[in-house]
Amino acid sequence: QHILEGKNISKHFNQTIALDDVSFEVKKGETLSIIGTSGSGKSTLLRTLNRLIPISGGEIKFRGQNIQEIPEIELRRQIGYVLQEPALFPHWTVEKNIALVLQLCNWPKDKISERVEALLNLMQMPHAKYRKRYPSELSGGEKQRIGIARALAAFPDLVLFDEPFSALDPITKGELQQEVIRLKDKLNTTSIFVTHDVKEAYLLGDRVLILNQGKAIQIGTPEEIRNHP
Ligand code: ADP
Ligand code: ADP
Repeated sequence: QHILEGKNISKHFNQTIALDDVSFEVKKGETLSIIGTSGSGKSTLLRTLNRLIPISGGEIKFRGQNIQEIPEIELRRQIGYVLQEPALFPHWTVEKNIALVLQLCNWPKDKISERVEALLNLMQMPHAKYRKRYPSELSGGEKQRIGIARALAAFPDLVLFDEPFSALDPITKGELQQEVIRLKDKLNTTSIFVTHDVKEAYLLGDRVLILNQGKAIQIGTPEEIRNHP
């Protein structure tokens, strides 16, 4: 039932304690928001969860299995990652940028084309109109839609969002937030959403984890946190 479990996670960078005994779990279909001020350990926590950085102590289990034991290619397929800057290859079309992920998963060509078309349509970027565009021909919001499409491409069991909308103007940000809500209803995605925007955390999270100087000082539904601040 738990897609992800973090048990007593700690992370030190030399003298800096970035994460200090953090425990939590994420259920299937749930969105967990992580909030905290700059330097509280949000990005570090997210990066330990997909093994981009090793932990100093504790344990992370993904679908019941210690993430240390999961082969790299499986982990990359099963955990989608959305960054603040989508880092699309500038000389590749939108279509090719998304297809790359599926090529790495050894999908057959015809299945890849079908999937890319479905993903563009899912993100409300009509395939016929957008497939041949280059990243420089997209707005910031459109680029981030491609970032999300790419993260969802191989049907991941978990999607990690690292402050994905903080570089966008308020209107585009609002649209993308609604998009994330719509995707969750439609696909029952399980996700972790890191943000420093408290409103956004409460809007998108079924539960919210508050980090402060590397410690999880509170975790609960927005309701529970409002009632016991
Ligand atoms: P947040 O995402 O909440 O802003 P971070 O996870 O980036 O916080 O950082 C948490 C703490 O860990 C900070 O004190 C930061 O300086 C430190 N830190 C993060 N990454 C590194 C690193 N690669 N080397 C040394 N210290 C780091
Ligand atoms: P799991 O049970 O581990 O989640 P899946 O049954 O979803 O794995 O997928 C098994 C393999 O088939 C994976 O390598 C995946 O990339 C590939 N795959 C999944 N869905 C499709 C699809 N619609 N078309 C082509 N390949 C797919």
